[in-house]
Amino acid sequence: MEEPEMRAFTVQNFAHPLEEVDVTTPQPKGTEVVVEVTRCGVCHTDLHLQDGFYDLGGGKRLNLKDRGIVPPLVLGHEIYGKLVAKGPDVSDDQCEIGRYYVVYPWIGCGECEQCLQDHDNLCATPKSLGVARPGGYADQCLIPHPKYLVDVTDLDPSLAATYACSGLTAYSAINKIEIDRENELLVLLGLGGVGMNALNIAVAQGFGRIAVADLDPAKRDFALRAGAHFSFDPGQPEELQTLLSEQGNAAAVVDFVGSTETAASGISMLRKGGIYVIVGLFGGEVTLPLPPLAQRSTVICGSYVGNLAELRELVELAKTGKIAALPVETMPFSKANEALDRLRTGGVNGRLVLAK
Ligand SMILES: [Zn+2]
Ligand SMILES: [Zn+2]
Repeated sequence: MEEPEMRAFTVQNFAHPLEEVDVTTPQPKGTEVVVEVTRCGVCHTDLHLQDGFYDLGGGKRLNLKDRGIVPPLVLGHEIYGKLVAKGPDVSDDQCEIGRYYVVYPWIGCGECEQCLQDHDNLCATPKSLGVARPGGYADQCLIPHPKYLVDVTDLDPSLAATYACSGLTAYSAINKIEIDRENELLVLLGLGGVGMNALNIAVAQGFGRIAVADLDPAKRDFALRAGAHFSFDPGQPEELQTLLSEQGNAAAVVDFVGSTETAASGISMLRKGGIYVIVGLFGGEVTLPLPPLAQRSTVICGSYVGNLAELRELVELAKTGKIAALPVETMPFSKANEALDRLRTGGVNGRLVLAK
């Protein structure tokens, strides 16, 4: 019997455009479920997966093939769609055929201590959708368990898709900050999709003094209209000096760029006991004198996507209507390469989402 086929946009070779290919339509076994993908967000991680490496700074690279990630890859981890099939071990109360869900993509091995606590995003052997497992740049996506489906009834489909990575990453980073939210200074570095989402979430959660930085004046203006209280141009060091002399040092800095320059700058603007959260994966490295880290009780904290509970919390927060909607632009799946190229050249305000 001939297996049914579906369309997928795949990395066949690193550093090449995606290719549209026919692959076998997934058939769910055991606890597996299948979603028909109707939206899939386009993320910077997709660019790294297309390139085949991360830049670690100083000429060093993290090659994906050394991590067992080799083509062909079906990218796409901001997956929204309709449940169309489920395996024999999935009960009716776990999920409903025909209902729409956003999919938690940061899936782990399912067996280690982190996975058993639903901290899949910290699993040592991740099997994330759109990275190690086939993702959402395809007609359908196979998911190992219905617990990864988050009901997003009543939310805008394109916006809901972006919560799986962009939104979750922003939410989890903000969630790590324990300061006096109303009165202390929070600085957000970088106003791409994740940084803008973080601003919207921080405003919704009652942060009362938020400063934003981006090289693009249009993005800074947009952020000020979206609720940021201060902004500065990171290319003009005197603007930051003025801010800090008027407002005092920052209690928390969240770095959505993650470059050598932004890390050094972010850590340097902290008050004693302040926290620097690094989220962005631009690449680079920092050299720090160690005694001040101890003397100033500085916290340096990495944040990678978020856990399943955080995605559920974020979706609930979104359903209250408190989070301002991120600008989202849709493009057809057939233009996946064009979407990736636009993201690479920085010509995206908010988030690009593939749609059908
Ligand atoms: Zn992503
Ligand atoms: Zn695990």
